[in-house]
Amino acid sequence: MSKSSEWIDIETKYYAQTVRRQPVVIVKGEGTRVWDADGKEYLDFVAGWAVNNLGHCHPAVTEAIVAQAGTLVQTSNQFFTVPQLHLAQILIDNSCLDRVFFGNSGAEANEGALKLARRYGKLHRDGAFEVITAYNSFHGRTMGTVAATGQPHYQVNFTPLLPGFVHVDYNDVEGIMSATTDKTAAVFLEPVQGEGGVNIPDDDYLIRVREWCDRQGILLMLDEVQTGIGRLGSLFGYQEYGIEPDVITLAKGLGHGVPIGAFMSKEFCMALVPGDHGSTFGGNVLTTAAAYAGTKFLVDNDIPAQVKVMEGYLLGRLNELRSRFSFVTDVRGKGLLAAVEFESDISGQVLTHANEAGLLLNGVKPNAVRLMPPLNITREEIDEGVGRLEEALGKI
Ligand SMILES: *Cc1c(COP(=O)(O)O)cnc(C)c1O
Repeated sequence: MSKSSEWIDIETKYYAQTVRRQPVVIVKGEGTRVWDADGKEYLDFVAGWAVNNLGHCHPAVTEAIVAQAGTLVQTSNQFFTVPQLHLAQILIDNSCLDRVFFGNSGAEANEGALKLARRYGKLHRDGAFEVITAYNSFHGRTMGTVAATGQPHYQVNFTPLLPGFVHVDYNDVEGIMSATTDKTAAVFLEPVQGEGGVNIPDDDYLIRVREWCDRQGILLMLDEVQTGIGRLGSLFGYQEYGIEPDVITLAKGLGHGVPIGAFMSKEFCMALVPGDHGSTFGGNVLTTAAAYAGTKFLVDNDIPAQVKVMEGYLLGRLNELRSRFSFVTDVRGKGLLAAVEFESDISGQVLTHANEAGLLLNGVKPNAVRLMPPLNITREEIDEGVGRLEEALGKI
C-alpha cells in the first residue's frame, strides 16, 4: 500500500466528510510544482484555490513568515501592530478605496461588507437592507454568505436563510434595475464569477451597473475574493472594467497561502463605527506580515502585467486542445482564471487522468474544469501543463 493511500484511509476514518477530495496527499510545494507523499511530482494549476499567486513557498513570503514567527505572532486588536498597517497602506495606496478591515477568510470579509451595507442603509437610505446578488455567484459558506450566494444547492440544506437578498441574472443590468426598490442598500457582484464556472461579463456590464447605483444612491460592492491581487491581470479586478466600486472584499490571493480576508471601502460609505465589528485573529501580525511581503513583491515586480501576457498564451494553448478534441465545447478565461468546458459531465474523469499525468486542476462544474495557476507561471510551465492536460484528454 502506498503512503498516500494510508493517509487517505486515516482521512476517511477521522475527518468530517464535507469535501470530495482528489486522491492526492500533498507534502511539499515549490513554485508551480507540488509533490505527493509517494514522491510523485505535479504541476499545480489549482494553486490553493487561486491563493498561491506567487507559487508555493515563494522566498519573499517564506522569509517574512519565518522572521515574523520569531518576533511577534498575535496581540489582539486592542493594540497597534506594524505589519497590519504596512498591508493596509499598500492596499489603499494602490486602490480607489480609503479604508480597510482585516478578517480571516473570504466569507468573513463578505460578512463585514454585508454588515457595512446594512449599516449604510440604516444611516443613509431610511433603513434599506436588501442586497442584490447574482445567480451562479459564490460568496462563501457562512449563513449570511450562503444566503447571498445565488446557487440553491448551497442553500437548501440550511433553510431558513438570512432574509434580505434578491437574486438576478449575472451580466443583466436590466435585472438589477427591476430588482431595485427603496429597500435596496447595495448590489454585490463578482467582477468575473469564479466558482460559478468562470463567467466573464460584457465589457460594459459593470460600467452600466455603476451608473445605475450612482443614480439610485445604492452601494456597488464587488466580491474580489477570487479576482483580487492580480488574478485578472490588474491588481484588482475592477481595474479591468474601468469603474470604481464603493466596497470590495479580498481573501484568497491576498494571503499568498496564509488565511486572511479584507473588506475595503470608500470613506463616504464606511458606515461602521467603534463597537460595530471586530475580530480576534483578523489582521493578525503573522498573517499580515506574510500578506504584505507577498503583495509588495507582486506590486513591485508588476506581476499583473505578466498575467496579461500569459493570459493570451494560456488561452491560445487551450484553444489548440479545443480544436483537437471535439468534446471540448468551450475555452474561456480572463487573466489566469480559465475554464475548459466539455459536452458532457466528464470533469471527474478528466481530473483522474490529469492527476495520473501529473497535473492538478479544479472540477468547477460536472462538465468543466478550472485552471488558476500561480501568476508568475512561465511559458514553459504552461506548455508542460497543457501537454499533461492533452495527455489526460487523450484517455477520455
Ligand atoms: C472562495 C470565495 C469565497 C469564500 O472564501 P472563503 O475564504 O472560502 O470563505 C467568497 N467569494 C468568492 C468570490 C470566492 O471565490
